[in-house]
Amino acid sequence: MMQFPLTLDHLVARAEKVFPGVEVVSRRADRSLHRTTYGAVCARARKLAEALARWGLRPGDRVATLMWNHAAHLELYLGAPLAAGVVHTLNLRLHPDDLAYIATHASDRVLVVDEVLLPLWEKFRDRTRIERAVVVPSSGGGEYEGLLSTAEGRWTPPVLSEGDAAGMCYTSGTTGQPKGVVYTHRSNALHALGVALVDSLALSHRDTLLPVVPMFHANAWGLPHAATMMGCKLVFPGPHLDAVSLLDLMQAESVTCAAGVPTVWMAILDALQREPGRWKLAPGLRMVVGGSAAPESMIRAFDKHGLTVVHAWGMTEMSPVGSVSQLGPDAPRLSEDEAYAQRARQGRPTPWVDIRAVSESGEVPWDGRTPGELHVRGPWVASGYYQNDEARERWTEDGWFRTGDVVTLDATGSIKVCDRLKDLIKSGGEGISSVDLENRLMAHPAVKEAAVVSVPHPKWSERPLAAVVLREGARVGPAELRDFLAPHFAAFWLPDAFVYVDAIPRTSAGKFLKSALRERFADWTWG
Ligand code: ADP
Repeated sequence: MMQFPLTLDHLVARAEKVFPGVEVVSRRADRSLHRTTYGAVCARARKLAEALARWGLRPGDRVATLMWNHAAHLELYLGAPLAAGVVHTLNLRLHPDDLAYIATHASDRVLVVDEVLLPLWEKFRDRTRIERAVVVPSSGGGEYEGLLSTAEGRWTPPVLSEGDAAGMCYTSGTTGQPKGVVYTHRSNALHALGVALVDSLALSHRDTLLPVVPMFHANAWGLPHAATMMGCKLVFPGPHLDAVSLLDLMQAESVTCAAGVPTVWMAILDALQREPGRWKLAPGLRMVVGGSAAPESMIRAFDKHGLTVVHAWGMTEMSPVGSVSQLGPDAPRLSEDEAYAQRARQGRPTPWVDIRAVSESGEVPWDGRTPGELHVRGPWVASGYYQNDEARERWTEDGWFRTGDVVTLDATGSIKVCDRLKDLIKSGGEGISSVDLENRLMAHPAVKEAAVVSVPHPKWSERPLAAVVLREGARVGPAELRDFLAPHFAAFWLPDAFVYVDAIPRTSAGKFLKSALRERFADWTWG
């Protein structure tokens, strides 16, 4: 067979030839819609590559972005690698101190920044070595167009190798310095294929895809690459991520597949329940949920609205998708409850992702019961962090990446994430899954959100405390919540305290920030 490189220029060339007319729609900051096509986006990505090279970008140089999801960000995703550059997406939800650290650690040379994000850029620009910042105005035109116009169209692009770096992300990490992950052309290409498979997200040329997950977070789950590979119409939400804006956009553009973290979908569910019938969404709409566990109650509730939740698990270090929960050939024989339980798992690993779960006594059996830390390896799993040796212990000597997730594996390799290792509650030496408790609590009609954390305890060393956010106008006492949980868990699992809070603190990716809750309740006095 031919030695044909898995490089992203192939995606661009194919899109230009096979589906140049397929649309890429973006909601601008001023809420107007910008409509373009893959043909135009790819032509502009080529111009961008040439312009960057003429400016002085060398192979391997980092091109940072500080941008929302829109067509220009896709041009960066495709264009920087065409110039053998590395697109480094800066997470705009991070603190300016972190951004300064990350941009410096990555040696970013040039930055492309949305006009609406200039105030953020001003807060850390003096602490970076970025040589040039190019502004993308909210209304088109401006500096970014100026950069593109320096391309003359007479340029020989560099020959790319599949092992070349193409992208870079830092994990937000709740402790320690952020850690960089470098993706290659090959890993991006293979990951895009893996994500698109029918038993993964089933992305097709007939799909209209809305990545709500930000392009500055874990490659937007590889969706920009996968969409450009498969020819999906793309719809970008820009900075408008509230439920009504998203539902309006899904309706207007007949979105068939949307992807985001549970927080986003909880808000959408809330809106659908408040105003049933207001939105006419595409029949069979899939909603890909990942980043945190999708509660079973949410999957059930969306089904009532005719919307199908597809649950996926991943990590920045895995490009990020590692597994997707799709029903298998036994689906017709499953009871309704069994089917929901399966869909709420994190699912089977995609092809090319090897998994094992390891406890203190070695690799655990795939029996659906014995917990162990999930280890992974594969062509889109990082082999180390960028210029960071401190975290070497995340990789085993025999070549696996330690995910830090405690899981059980069933006989078919379907993963169930019990907890993050650091969130697991150890009561009297026994593990309690905070995730299972939370997901059950959130099935209570009065509960909007719930996070369960470990709190130091004199006798049991740790005990679970549940922080609960109630729905507007709803009331429910601790005793009722305990009774609601009791049928589903061993008695020692039940939280000893229920605390009502206004909001659960969140990470930059919208996940529950449990370390903040643990700190807040560290001095809790048990009654
Ligand atoms: P961070 O949020 O720290 O930047 P990632 O986005 O890479 O990092 O998060 C990866 C982690 O998110 C996983 O190790 C896992 O704990 C959690 N996670 C991701 N998807 C799921 C899921 N579907 N269910 C439960 N946990 C998930």
